[in-house]
Amino acid sequence: MDLDAIDMRRSRYELSELISGYPGRSATYGGLGWCSISVLRNSERVILVDTGSFGMRPVLKARLNEIGIEPVDVTDILITHVHYDHCANFTLFPKATIWINAEELDWAVQLPPGFDPVPELCVDALSRHERVISFLPTPVILPGITALAAPGHTPGSTVYSAQLTSGTTAVFTGDAIKNRAEFISGEFASTMDELRSKASWRKINSLCTATPSTIIIPGHDLTLIPGNPPRYKESRTAVLSAWLGTKLADITDFDITRTEDQI
Ligand SMILES: [Zn+2]
Repeated sequence: MDLDAIDMRRSRYELSELISGYPGRSATYGGLGWCSISVLRNSERVILVDTGSFGMRPVLKARLNEIGIEPVDVTDILITHVHYDHCANFTLFPKATIWINAEELDWAVQLPPGFDPVPELCVDALSRHERVISFLPTPVILPGITALAAPGHTPGSTVYSAQLTSGTTAVFTGDAIKNRAEFISGEFASTMDELRSKASWRKINSLCTATPSTIIIPGHDLTLIPGNPPRYKESRTAVLSAWLGTKLADITDFDITRTEDQI
């Protein structure tokens, strides 16, 4: 095998969209924290893009099992930002190197605990973790993986893009673009800096325009195929189950999708 072919193998990935995030929150209880989690794999690496919140642990384990990955197999974790619903489960992957924008970690470390989505104990552990690499976003951080600073939602929010074996480029926007509504409208819920969010949105759109075959994996929505209009790549499944009766077997399921979500 020649060097070009070896280089190609190291810098292209199979994508598994483990969990598609959900674009909503509870009107009475706050954030659901259901974020998108993906795996990028080739012969050298198993990369997790975001790790989800504590409540997602059983589903994360099940999805990893389904594609034959044990936690110990994960070589790298890319953190889009330090909110609890994206970074909390980095502790579950004992051999992984954890990649995080230095600006994000430096900002979070100096924050006092507050009534916000920053998990101070996780941030403290991240800042002392022996396998954390805090980096300044550069065109390439790993073979075939780029990091783009996308501040606004948080000061060090980062967008990653990966070259796939299919020839497509996958763009993981984290909460710089949380959902289809933000991608289409250029308006943002839960941003620390509206102007910076808008500038990041423009940068991400330019990246999509400049790259011929792109898919967008938002922080809290189904995968999108850019276009006019952008469309979902798959249909949504989302159900809430509640014990509202007097017997354990009396479970009420609430479908929390809309019919137009379905392709
Ligand atoms: Zn967030």
